[in-house]
Amino acid sequence: ELSKRLSVVAELLREQRVADIGSDHALLPVYLIREKLATAVVAGEYNPGPLAAARRQVKAAGLSGRVDVRGGDGLEVLVPGEVEAICLAGMGGGLIRDILEKGRREGKLEGVRELVLQPNIGAELVRAWLVRHDWYLDAERILEEDGKIYEVLRASRPAESRSLNARLYADGALVLGGGRALPGRQLYRLGPWLLREAGAVWRRHWESEQAKLERVAAGLGKASGPEAKDKAREVQVQIETIKEVLACTS
Ligand code: SAM
Repeated sequence: ELSKRLSVVAELLREQRVADIGSDHALLPVYLIREKLATAVVAGEYNPGPLAAARRQVKAAGLSGRVDVRGGDGLEVLVPGEVEAICLAGMGGGLIRDILEKGRREGKLEGVRELVLQPNIGAELVRAWLVRHDWYLDAERILEEDGKIYEVLRASRPAESRSLNARLYADGALVLGGGRALPGRQLYRLGPWLLREAGAVWRRHWESEQAKLERVAAGLGKASGPEAKDKAREVQVQIETIKEVLACTS
């Protein structure tokens, strides 16, 4: 059975011709075909071990005609125009952003209408990249599985992406204490839809981020020197922001 995390990725996908990049065991492609959520899937893998595992899995499922397993780096395995949607799941946000950026420069995003992205960490890097390249973040989910919290983002490219993004990340999505507006750029971390929804899992995620930062702050408090002081101040500002956001969304 598919993990909850990958089920959410599958649920957000709307397009029929899909690429799953960094597919590992090709669990998502096999599921998408079996559940008739996609008609054809390209499974891309860079590393030989997972690539062999993906090939085995697809063959065992009898889906070699529908899932095309290809070895290569990021989007280089794609022919421009062949897929409508790209999934990148279970990687760091920095890697997801780098793969998208390299693919964009090589024209691999032409004809792609949808991105479904599941960064394990560093989701803010992905959100910032999407805005920079006029992809509109049209859905976000957050879920907990086996004690870990995951964010899943979906982006598309409507004609009015730029104004939609401007509205999505406008200052003041949340009014903080003293009538101050939350700066829009904070939404790259918090998630613009996740913040508006402020569900239980999202709150737990930010409570645990706050606790982590407090441990960092305690460590820095013991260190001396101007760099540690600067860092401590920065961490303190982050802690205060999280506290305020949690207070204002409860
Ligand atoms: N997408 C699957 C999931 O969400 O369960 C697998 C996630 S796995 C942790 C990340 C996979 O990405 C690994 O199998 C790794 O080999 C692959 N990978 C890392 N960098 C890659 C790249 N530049 N191009 C293609 N695959 C890559």
